[in-house]
Amino acid sequence: MVELLGKSKEELRAFCVEMGEPAYRGGQIYHALYAERKFDFARMSNLPLALRERLAKEARVTLPEVKQRFASSDGSVRYLFGLSAGEEKRSSTEDTEKNQKRSDGQRIPASVEAVFMPSEGRQTICISTQAGCAVDCHFCLTAQLGLIRNLTAGEILAQALLPLEEHKAELAPAFEAQGKQTNIVLMGQGEPLLNFEPVMEALRILLDPEGVGITPKHATLSTSGIVPGIERLAQEKVRPKLAVSLNASNDEQRDALMPINRKYPLKTLMEACKNYPLRPWEHLTFEYVMLGGVNDSTDDARRVVRLLAALKRVKVNLIPWNPGELPYRESSAEQIEEFRRILNDKGVPAFVRYSRGRDVMAACGQLALLEIGPQSSASRVS
Ligand code: SF4
Repeated sequence: MVELLGKSKEELRAFCVEMGEPAYRGGQIYHALYAERKFDFARMSNLPLALRERLAKEARVTLPEVKQRFASSDGSVRYLFGLSAGEEKRSSTEDTEKNQKRSDGQRIPASVEAVFMPSEGRQTICISTQAGCAVDCHFCLTAQLGLIRNLTAGEILAQALLPLEEHKAELAPAFEAQGKQTNIVLMGQGEPLLNFEPVMEALRILLDPEGVGITPKHATLSTSGIVPGIERLAQEKVRPKLAVSLNASNDEQRDALMPINRKYPLKTLMEACKNYPLRPWEHLTFEYVMLGGVNDSTDDARRVVRLLAALKRVKVNLIPWNPGELPYRESSAEQIEEFRRILNDKGVPAFVRYSRGRDVMAACGQLALLEIGPQSSASRVS
């Protein structure tokens, strides 16, 4: 059985030719799968009946199982998806210690999360790119899982397709009519740039007007600062906007919070950001989680201004910390406002962004941890 979810139009065309069908049938399957979200061959009414019957015998569309849904009082829905066992692929960009623990070719089942967040006139879907993560940011619960495995393009896509399909009745006027009202953010579990090819394969379909139809202006990839990945993304013809998870104002602080900084220190990261080719409409976004007493002082704010001084068209999102199991505390509202004011006064646009779905544990990784427990790290599963 050939898996079709995640295949590009060219791959579906080639698949049809191999079956002895005209290549254009591949384009029709592509449209049915991604633009119409028809996952059952019997519902692909743009195909002849005989082909639908043949596809049912020779191909499949594997959707993740929705293991749990958590509805927040603010309208967000948090999904815990169960994924079938998949072939482990080592990251093509990086070989971190935790990735190497996973390079034994085992087939590993996994759970990942996506969050659907409706708001006035638009909806945002936050999706995961890896099960667990090897990057080990100390403020992140996903880090406690270690890297379980990379997701396939189909598994990444399904996290957007399933919530869109599930919410289509309420979203139909906004999404179906205009096709540009959905935001996709790659900010769930995992470091997208350490699973580069499958992430790009999924994005090319998400951002294709004949595929899912999200516009590049409405898709954001967030990285912890994997410099070779940023340089590689810069070469891509179709790419989302880029956000860099900064979270510190100097190397000492960032080394302590995000050990990846020892490999790509701020000078190297800022150089890569400076060279990143922004499109005329684009800003480079820096995410900054405000950790009380750690990175939220007025001196930190001034250092962030100096760090970003050489960059054009940047903005900073200040994210108040979600108190939970990790040993950090929230910054006060006054501290956050003062930080924001210093950045704005120095010409760095800064915004405070509260994470949605706080009552259903909005920090990435929390649902998976709830399910399998923080001790189920990479080394335990392997
Ligand atoms: Fe990985 Fe992102 Fe968590 Fe860092 S913040 S450990 S990159 S999932």
